[in-house]
Amino acid sequence: MIFMLSCIFTNAQEFGGNPPSIKWLQINSKAVRVIFPAGIDSEANRVANVVSYLNDNTQQTIGNKQKKVNLVLQTLTTISNAYVSLGPFRSEFFLTPFQNSFELGSLPWADQLAIHEFRHVQQYNNFNVGLSHAMHIFFGQEGQALANNAVVPNWFFEGDAVFNETNVSRQGRGSLPYFYNPYRSLWQAGKKYSWMKLRNGSYKDFVPDHYALGYLLVAYGREKYGDDFWKKVTHDAASFKGLFYPFQVAIKKYTGKNYIAYRNDALTYFKSRFAKTGNGTTAVTTSSKKFTDEEYPVLIEDGSILFV
Ligand SMILES: [Zn+2]
Repeated sequence: MIFMLSCIFTNAQEFGGNPPSIKWLQINSKAVRVIFPAGIDSEANRVANVVSYLNDNTQQTIGNKQKKVNLVLQTLTTISNAYVSLGPFRSEFFLTPFQNSFELGSLPWADQLAIHEFRHVQQYNNFNVGLSHAMHIFFGQEGQALANNAVVPNWFFEGDAVFNETNVSRQGRGSLPYFYNPYRSLWQAGKKYSWMKLRNGSYKDFVPDHYALGYLLVAYGREKYGDDFWKKVTHDAASFKGLFYPFQVAIKKYTGKNYIAYRNDALTYFKSRFAKTGNGTTAVTTSSKKFTDEEYPVLIEDGSILFV
């Protein structure tokens, strides 16, 4: 009765913005169907090859379940980004390269995206287990997405993908000093934020995002407990083993320490590593107590600078 009375709008993905005259082609392998506009076949080939190589060589760290993903290469965007999503299971790469090499590194843009995004493909494929799989059967891919996001924190999804960048290439954010700056600045300023603040952010103070937090927590786990540590933890979590807080229960099971101790140890580990290497550098201090994020400076008529 409730379903009959409720009225909701549903929509599938939007793939607008391309002129109908574009001729779309595809390259297929067992891991991926790369869909791309005619004219960028060498880039599409490269993406298909990188993905296939990663598929064959990184399963031991996340699991060997595999479902072919549709991957669309978009060339007519001004945004440089990409995503992987369920409902339907697909990925899009926006191929305009990122402008700041200090922030994401200087790998060819399509390689960078293939390495990072394919890890999300592997995550979703391997998190389709246990109760998450039951949700998939009853409610489709959106059901799995709901179950996965209820138990696997977003810091893991992104931290694991960023770790993979560094693990399989000679670049990746884990190799870039810029990526550690947010946490190093907090540590240098003596800030001791609670877990809730680090996890959820703040409207008042600067708090690093879940990519930075996730990388530290994931990298520590790989370093201390082995390459298959997160495969075991996330398999248990996505299966809802123990039903309540399965991710936290799995951390306890495979490390012998509780979740609070695990994340404290992880952050302390990196903090003490940087304390050793930080000698000789000078922190830039400011008299302002307020944090501002200044972007897009524009010189205006009276000679002052306007920031967004
Ligand atoms: Zn990501």
